[in-house]
Amino acid sequence: MTDPVLRSLAGESLYVHEEEKLIYGYTTRNFPPTALRRLFPGLPILFLKQVHSDRIIMPGDWRPGVEADGMLLQGEHAVALIQTADCLPLFFFDDERRSGGVLHVGWRGLQKGIEERLAELLGGDLGRFRFHLGPGIERDCYEVGEDVREQFAKKPYGRVIFTPVRPGKHLLDLKAGLTLSLRALGAAPERIRDCGLCTFCSRGLFPSYRRDGGTGRRVFNFLMLRGAPAPG
Ligand SMILES: [Zn+2]
Repeated sequence: MTDPVLRSLAGESLYVHEEEKLIYGYTTRNFPPTALRRLFPGLPILFLKQVHSDRIIMPGDWRPGVEADGMLLQGEHAVALIQTADCLPLFFFDDERRSGGVLHVGWRGLQKGIEERLAELLGGDLGRFRFHLGPGIERDCYEVGEDVREQFAKKPYGRVIFTPVRPGKHLLDLKAGLTLSLRALGAAPERIRDCGLCTFCSRGLFPSYRRDGGTGRRVFNFLMLRGAPAPG
């Protein structure tokens, strides 16, 4: 199992991992949403209205503008898609590539326990799954206030993901929080991979909301199970 690698598609750059029954990856800085169509011609690309919730839907629940922050595919011929610009995309798929998807995990989603909802949806059996943490803002670039730290006070990992930097300010390690929670839910440590790419300090590679402000640019994080039957 390899991590997604940087490739070029009609002049656009993206990280992609492809195998017989699975494709997933993430786009770079200026990738236009229209270019996603060239990646997945004729396939439904299931965009969500992301609201920092813990709601994960399946394609049968999808409609335009549906509010959710994760999608679980179980054989449907469709592309799960999450947009990020500092928040963390979490990809997951099982050994048989029969089920998989992607979550949008910011601090609010983690605080609400979106990964716990995922474990419930998957029947509590995370041991069969592999996880990949895509590009997101990493600890050294992610300063938050006391208000955020307080909201994690009751989490078992709440003490270890904040590093005080100055009065009332902490560095937040979102990736560590998510990883520790997945492990507590039964995910195997060696099956959780981190791409090691920070959106904030990889200038030129990814959009970053904290660095660039509201440019509207996003990373498109996509996953499709290719073993699904062709439509029609
Ligand atoms: Zn960084």
